[in-house]
Amino acid sequence: MTLWPRSLLARLTIIVLAGLLLANALSLSLVMFERMRSARSVMLGNLEYDVATSVAILDRLPVAERAAWLPKLARGNYHYILGPGAPGKAPTDKRSRDAIRSLTDTVASQYRLRFSTVAGPVSHIQAHMVLSDGSPLTLDLIPHMPPVARWLPLVFTFQLMLVVLCAWLAVRQVVRPLMRFTHAVESLEPATNAPHNMPEQGPLEVQQAARAFNAMQARIQGYIRQRAQILAAISHDLQTPITRMKLRIEMAEEPALRDKLMQDLDNMTQLVREGIAWARSTESLEEPPRQIELYAFIDSIACDYVDVGKNIHFEMPAGAYSLAARPQALRRVMTNLLDNALKFGSRAEITLAHSDSQAVTIVVTDNGPGIPQDELEAVLQPFYRVESSRNRSTGGTGLGLAIAAELVSQSGGKLTLGNRDGGGLQVNVTLPKA
Ligand code: ATP
Ligand code: MG
Repeated sequence: MTLWPRSLLARLTIIVLAGLLLANALSLSLVMFERMRSARSVMLGNLEYDVATSVAILDRLPVAERAAWLPKLARGNYHYILGPGAPGKAPTDKRSRDAIRSLTDTVASQYRLRFSTVAGPVSHIQAHMVLSDGSPLTLDLIPHMPPVARWLPLVFTFQLMLVVLCAWLAVRQVVRPLMRFTHAVESLEPATNAPHNMPEQGPLEVQQAARAFNAMQARIQGYIRQRAQILAAISHDLQTPITRMKLRIEMAEEPALRDKLMQDLDNMTQLVREGIAWARSTESLEEPPRQIELYAFIDSIACDYVDVGKNIHFEMPAGAYSLAARPQALRRVMTNLLDNALKFGSRAEITLAHSDSQAVTIVVTDNGPGIPQDELEAVLQPFYRVESSRNRSTGGTGLGLAIAAELVSQSGGKLTLGNRDGGGLQVNVTLPKA
């Protein structure tokens, strides 16, 4: 099945075209068959009454005048010869036999007929007879059909082109909305409030499908917004009781217990803050994009880490990148990634890759243990932490990567994770330049 094309457009075109052509060819051959039959019966009918008359005229004419009449009695595919004609074998092919039968029916009652074949590429026969005065007469006949009109092939070509054009137009009607759908699904952005992105135009079915798709998108956006709001509300409202509990613990007698409880409450505060941060990140960004100089921007972030003694290296290829980005959001992305790198490894490295003219990629690598291949997708989910890091002292909530990925996707970019060959994690943040 390697010849069968993979695209729907090609497949449908082939099926529709083959069907139309087959149907056309069938009706054409039926018409041709019918035409041949009727043409043959017309030819034979003509032969019957015309030959009988002509032979009777020639028989009654004086010998001297016969020659002058021959051109008048000649027809498209037969003429008369005064003489015995050429000798030959009796004809056997189908066409000749039909002609012989008609001639026999009309003239054999009065004259003795003998037939011979004239050699040549087309069937060509002669009928020999003797007139009543004893002189020989030969009828030279090429039994053929009237030729097909010369404009017919032109009309057929035109018809063929028409069929191809119609098939292609019809198939495109089906395939185009499908492609629009694919595009709409690909650019579906459930976490934003972007309005319906599928135009509700075209044929009725396509309109309905587009409407259903847009409704689905709106529903998904609604669910996500609702969940984010619930999370934000819970996180927010927890802050007050936590503060109250802290105040109460301050007054507790036992210092050891107090310190432990205090630590637990600090952890809770941290969790709550992250919950709010994540909920916020899924809302549409309020921060307007600004033109930033990528090198200076990342350098300042890296310097903040280096200042407090962290092991961070920043390398940048020649050339300055100016980029439209949301600085707050990008700073949070970088901070989350670098925190991870330093938490799970001991050294982080930032490089820039100039992937193409439309995008730039920030690469953050570390020397940590990396993430198991089958969990690379899952760690991007909120609150997901790799099993081995749950028991570590490196406590966390599992929100860092979820927030980073969310912020990057809101800026129209993409965050991807991968393990390096030499060990350690590599995070690629691809951002559009415009
Ligand atoms: P938080 O960032 O919310 O304080 P976290 O760092 O555990 O907590 P994420 O940043 O979302 O959460 O990361 C999710 C999980 O992915 C981590 O728990 C860890 O198992 C794994 N992970 C993230 N970055 C790295 C890394 N650089 N090296 C190894 N594992 C990592
Ligand atoms: Mg983290």
